[in-house]
Amino acid sequence: MEDAIQSAQAPANELEDLKARYEKLVEINSSLNERVLELYTLYNVSRTLSTSLHVADLFEVVMGLIGEALNVDQYCLMFLDDELQKLQIRASHGIPETVVMHGEIKVTAGVSGRVVSGGHPVLIDDISKESDFFYFPGSGIKQGSYLGVPLKNQEGVIIGVLNAHKPMVNGFSKNDLRLFAAVAENVAIAVSNAMTLQQTRELIRKDELTGLYNRRYFFERFEREVYRSRRYGRTISLMMIDIDHFKEYNDSYGHLRGDRVLKTISRIFESSLRKIDVVARYGGEEFLVLLPETSRENAIRVAEKLRQAVEKVDFNEDAPNLGPCALTITIGVSAIPDDANEPILALDLADKALYMGKAQGRNQVCSKVPKETV
Ligand code: GH3
Ligand code: MG
Ligand code: MG
Repeated sequence: MEDAIQSAQAPANELEDLKARYEKLVEINSSLNERVLELYTLYNVSRTLSTSLHVADLFEVVMGLIGEALNVDQYCLMFLDDELQKLQIRASHGIPETVVMHGEIKVTAGVSGRVVSGGHPVLIDDISKESDFFYFPGSGIKQGSYLGVPLKNQEGVIIGVLNAHKPMVNGFSKNDLRLFAAVAENVAIAVSNAMTLQQTRELIRKDELTGLYNRRYFFERFEREVYRSRRYGRTISLMMIDIDHFKEYNDSYGHLRGDRVLKTISRIFESSLRKIDVVARYGGEEFLVLLPETSRENAIRVAEKLRQAVEKVDFNEDAPNLGPCALTITIGVSAIPDDANEPILALDLADKALYMGKAQGRNQVCSKVPKETV
């Protein structure tokens, strides 16, 4: 009798056991599937990130990847500005443009600041339980869940935060956290490399003393702009500028003060010109300005504005004991195609016009060079 009961129970137990094993297998299978998906996502992220070394392109790629891979509705990358001690939104999704424009906070503020100071991910399962929650001002988020992951460069230095939001409570799982951290790691390294490259590129284009473009970059741009102006049938103008009697200033007040003058004049040029104009230090106390889509007449007007702006300055204002000192500049202007077709000829004409201005008494703008002197 007992035997009979046992044999009836055995298959029932076995069945239970099989069912439990089956359920366990399903669970393992599903977590394996998740892991495969995670690895695939990461593979995709690192492969895509390696395709661009350009910061703006990278941000675009990163935003697409995050949305696809991490299934979040609002997210942004904030980067640290060490000098200003601020976190600034550099790329975002699901956040109104007007908010992004002001998307900047003190490095210690909000939950993003907490991620930076702690150096670890911060997960908030239910935002509504947090008093005064924000990861940047104006995000308008009061509910749902939040995950913030620090972005670290190769040296392990924190360079920003990846913030993400889901509209539901408990929206992020443990797996999400792991995946976010891994994605953030890839993103941070790619972006910091691209930023370094961009800074290096900028540096090799610039003149060390004045911060203006150097002559090599100027000629590179000149070629490109002339090509473009030809294609669209537009005029492009050129200025060559030289400080008058600069040797005397150096001789009187020393080379260091002379260097200061070069910097001050460079800032005057930059602030008086448009963004699309290219101003460069040609060498010594000579400068070149490229004015795309500008007729000779307008270029002369701009040159006159520069001349007057410089003339007004007291270059010894910071050292009253030296007494006031005014300096002037002379400017030669030429235009393509009005005066010449080729960049090199236009440059030569601007140089000749400058020389003429010097000969006629300096502190002036000259453009037309008489034919016989050309
Ligand atoms: P002009 O009106 O004919 O242009 O007279 P100038 O004295 O400006 O011209 P000149 O070519 O005789 O002298 C240019 C001076 O510019 C010589 C040098 O002392 C000064 N200079 C050139 N490069 C630098 C620089 O990097 N720093 C400083 N402080 N001075 C410089
Ligand atoms: Mg000179
Ligand atoms: Mg000079």
